[in-house]
Order: sequence, then structure tokens, then C-alpha cells
Amino acid sequence: MKYEGDHNFQETWILKSIQNLKVSDDVVIIYPNSYKVGSSNLGFHSIFEQLAINGKRAARFFIDSRTLKFYSPDTKLRLKSFRNIYISISFENDLINLYKALRQEMGDDASVWPEITIGGAAVNTSPFLFTGIADLMGIGDSEFYFENFGYLFESNRFYDCKQIDEYFKKQLEPFDEKSIFEDSNFDNKKNFSTILKIFFQNWNKICDRQIPFASNFISPFSAFPDYFLIEISRGCPFSCAFCSFGNLGKPYDLFPIEKIIEKIERGYSFTKQIGLVCAALPPIGYIENIVSNFPDANLHFSSLRVDSFDDRYIDIFSTLKVQTVTLAPETANENIRKKLGKNFSDAQIIELIKNFVKNGIYKFKLYFIIGLKFSNQRKQMSDNEQFENSKISEEEIYSEIEELIDFIDKIQSNVYSQTRILPYISISINPFIPKPSCRWWFFPFISKNVYEKSRKIINKKIYNRKKIDVDFFSYREALKEYLLSWGIKDNLKN
Ligand code: SF4
Repeated sequence: MKYEGDHNFQETWILKSIQNLKVSDDVVIIYPNSYKVGSSNLGFHSIFEQLAINGKRAARFFIDSRTLKFYSPDTKLRLKSFRNIYISISFENDLINLYKALRQEMGDDASVWPEITIGGAAVNTSPFLFTGIADLMGIGDSEFYFENFGYLFESNRFYDCKQIDEYFKKQLEPFDEKSIFEDSNFDNKKNFSTILKIFFQNWNKICDRQIPFASNFISPFSAFPDYFLIEISRGCPFSCAFCSFGNLGKPYDLFPIEKIIEKIERGYSFTKQIGLVCAALPPIGYIENIVSNFPDANLHFSSLRVDSFDDRYIDIFSTLKVQTVTLAPETANENIRKKLGKNFSDAQIIELIKNFVKNGIYKFKLYFIIGLKFSNQRKQMSDNEQFENSKISEEEIYSEIEELIDFIDKIQSNVYSQTRILPYISISINPFIPKPSCRWWFFPFISKNVYEKSRKIINKKIYNRKKIDVDFFSYREALKEYLLSWGIKDNLKN
């Protein structure tokens, strides 16, 4: 079905049982970003499906970032006419538009809004951000909350946001945009980080995870056009120091291969683009099984860890029509990489890229974080001392950049000397965002001035080099994410 207007919603339903349900006029599900982004989000699909299993095909709503108005492919009714609102939010930064759009739609007084239930990755890492807009909250696996879900939504197992608000207010000193950058706040920050991690351990709900979620519909207007997305695993077996996901103690579970195959069968009759969603590469037997069952599928991986590859993996990758391999060395400094929790060497990265090139894959996207560098002195220090000394000097950042460019040169020259092919390297640069949920929460956030200077230096350095390009994560978005992660919501009202 094709809808007219600003927004394109053309879609193919995988689950006809949901398509055939009448769209509810009392339950909605919001993804607080565009249809393009929301329709590619597996968390959103999973909540939508679980509401449908409980007999409600929720009307889907998205947000137009220009007008901050809600729009829906399912209904012409206004959002405010619904009684129950469910929100699936994956990124803290979407909170700002969500809050503005809700106020625009329903007025400033949140106490008269319909009942709002919220969950998603951003809620797990920063629950304190959402208590002002939602009434009920899910922490952890959504299946727990939808199991035995009350008829007509009259009973449920979600947490009351008032309880969560009290938990954090009782124990935390709030920060503001100025105090968060002050060294004297070390103890407050440490306290914040500890309380958040304890909260997650005690309030997180885990279900017996046997059945993976997958796309209910596909669309050419999604961020991943016409991709059928399927969960391969949940959680992560690693705990990289900069990552919230790996540091909250979420257990890692691999779904049974037969359940994965069963689900892919549903999507495969509609599309050959299959997106495998997992934080770590599954065992090679999983991929071999998927390839033998779906020989024409174009498999896409959400992430590849250098230390998870072996020769069998490379062989199979070369048969998968993969155009670009994405890897995340994070830093060109081996010592820092190991401290981060990425226990692989420069030599392993180069060897892997060389093997891909030999197997016909020539393009690579490499993710790097800047703002991680320890001085030799600082390496010996405790957390507390590191914080006291954690004003990363401009020199340290610039030497990090030198190392990064040298590393890219080393990759290209090594691979070229052994294969006579110069690999294409796209570099993606991100500032380190030290969130309270990370292991390295005590790091300072890079200043705008240094980040912008770094951008200029890198652009200048790669200008004359062949087959390299670079993109930079927006400083503004990174700063927003940093402030929100520490509960600083002052910018919500602007
Ligand atoms: S960065 Fe990736 S591998 Fe590391 S903990 Fe996070 S999800 Fe896991």
C-alpha cells in the first residue's frame, strides 16, 4: 500500500496475522524518530508484535523532526485521542524530540496525558531520564512484561515510574551543564555510576529467551531498505570499557539455530536481504546453516569483531556478496585497545584485511574513538588518580591522531605489498562519550575546540592519500548524548 504526502510508508507485511487485525483505536506505539529509522528498529518491531499477540494491533506513530508533529501510517486519528501509549526508545538523544512532540500534541501538563509505558535500550541505560514523561517502565527483556499481559491492558508487570524516580532522587545529587565538567565532582560521578549499575542488576528482568524477534513488515523506505531483520543473539559476551551495553551485566544468549531458521523462512519469501542482528559473531556453524538453507540470501551483519574470525569465516564471507566489511579497532594504540577490552593486535587486523582482500573484498569501514589516550604515567594509576589527571592534553589527542593515520598507512602498505591491491578504507571518527554506565565513566569529555581541530588535522592528512575517506560523528549530538547520560535534561525545554 502506498500513502500520499510527505511520508512514504510503502511496506510488505511478513506477518499477515498482524496485518489482518483491525488497527486499534485505543492503543498506540511510538518510535520517537522517523518512519525510516523506526521501521528498521527491531526493538520497535518486537513491542509492536507483542501488543498484537495480546490482541491489539497498535497504531504506529513516528515523529517528523522538522515540525515535531506525530504522523502515522495506520490512522488519521490524533495521538491524543488514544488511551494507552507505548514508546520504544533506543537512543537517549531521541528523548528531546519526543518530549517536545508530546508537549506540542497534548499540552505542557504531563499529569493529564494518557497513560504512557516506555521501554527500550535507552531506558535500560538511563531510566532516570524518562520518569518525567512516562507512567510505567520496562527494564530488561520485553517478553517478561508481556507474558500473561492483562486482558484489555488492565493489569501488567511494568514498573511504576514514581518508584524509579524516588530510587534515583533519594541517592543522587543532580548535575548541571557546568558541574559535570568539574573535577571536584569525582565522588558524585562515581556514586552516580555505582547506583546506576546496582539499579540495573536489581531491576533488570530476564526471560527465558528461546524465540528471536524478527521484522513484522519490510519497507523500501527503511534505513535498511527491504531488509528482513532477525535477532541472532541478545546481550554481549564482551565488556568494552566505553560501551554501556557490555557493562550493565546483561547476560549473553544465542538463540537456537532451528528457531532462527524457522523465522528467516518467513522473511525469505518476501526479500533476499537478511540482516543478522547480534553484538558478537555467532558460531560459524550458524552461518553455514543459514547459507545452506537460504543460498540466495544477501546476509548483512550488524557487527564483526576481529578476534572472532577464523579461516572458515573468511571463506564463507567471500561467497556472501559482501561489499564492505565493517570493523571497530576503536584505537590505533594496541595498549589502549587491550585495556578497552578489545584484545586483538594491529597485526591481527592487518592479517584479517589482507585475507579479505585475497578473497575479493576490497572495501573496509573502520570505527575509531578519539579521546582515549593514556599517558604512560597515567597507565599506572588507580581510577581516582586517573580522574584527577584525566584532563587529556591537546598533545595527547594529536598524538592519537598521528598514530591513527600511521596505522591506516600501515594497513594499506602491508596489504598492498602482499596482494598488489590497495584496500579502500573509510574511517569513522567518534568522540569518546564517557557515560555513567561505562567502565571508563571517569574520563573527561573532549572539548569542542580540540575535536574540531582534530577534524581539520585528519582531513588535511588524508587529503593526498589514495583510497581513504573519513566521516566524523557530530560533536553536538555527542555532547547531547553525554549530558543526557548523566541526567542533565536542561536542554529538553529549549
Ligand atoms: S562494543 Fe560491542 S563487543 Fe564491546 S561490549 Fe559493546 S556491544 Fe559488546
